[in-house]
Amino acid sequence: MRLSSICAAIAVMAIAATPAKADPPRVVATIAPLHSLVASVMAGVGEPYLLLPGPLSPHDFALAPSDVRRIAGADLVVWIGAPLESFLVKPLDGAAERQLALLDVPALDALPFGASGQDGDGAGLDPHIWLDPVRAIAIVTAVQERLSQIDPDNAATYRANAAALVVRLTRLDEAIRARLQPVASEPFIAFHDAYGYFSRRYGLQPAGYFASDPQRRPGARTIARLAALVRDGTVSCAFAEPQFDARIVTAIAADRPLRIGRLDPLGIDIEPGPALYETLLMGNAEAIAGCLGDTR
Ligand SMILES: [Zn+2]
Repeated sequence: MRLSSICAAIAVMAIAATPAKADPPRVVATIAPLHSLVASVMAGVGEPYLLLPGPLSPHDFALAPSDVRRIAGADLVVWIGAPLESFLVKPLDGAAERQLALLDVPALDALPFGASGQDGDGAGLDPHIWLDPVRAIAIVTAVQERLSQIDPDNAATYRANAAALVVRLTRLDEAIRARLQPVASEPFIAFHDAYGYFSRRYGLQPAGYFASDPQRRPGARTIARLAALVRDGTVSCAFAEPQFDARIVTAIAADRPLRIGRLDPLGIDIEPGPALYETLLMGNAEAIAGCLGDTR
């Protein structure tokens, strides 16, 4: 046997002896908090791709050609649903087995807008389900089940990761509840109508918001209504959001004392990855406690 054929034979044996390591499933998640939860479930297997990093708002987003190709090649796209990421409706049309639209998952118990005590923005499902840690547990379970279906070889890892994450999210829920309980009865104004689920979970009292869609400037009637809440002393805390001009918020204060806090629904200043979700939720709870705690 020639040396070269011996080498070839050894190479063949080596390949045969090592079980082929399958590529991890190609998973796309739309917003950073979802990406964080999916990344935790996939830890040790692979990493999901974050479609909307940094300050990109899902309320107003158009897909680049490279994103269209990535979505077409994905084994699984995890998204909230048409009310938030309308840009995905067409690319995912007819691809039921390659997508997980969380608003369609019954365990997530999606609710209509309207928990903020301000109506007039129409009906439709409130897409901001990820801001409730208890619903995040249902997201984790749904993601783990789908990943285990498409990648059964790694199902045990997904299950173990999901179980550990559920323990962390349960602790997070308890910590947020403890932090907010002393201030829960204080009314506040949010920047956009994103905190309905969060407010219901912790018994908060949102008194209004500037816009249902953060890209739209609030109308004169909304501004006047919110300014009246500040003037009559109902509200002494209002929240800005990092992507948007905080001057709209400060303008309603006029000469009344108004504390301005900052809530971030997406985690735009936080490093994407498994830890983002808990950092984001606890940061928002601290911001609410800080803004509401000193109002009296
Ligand atoms: Zn939103």
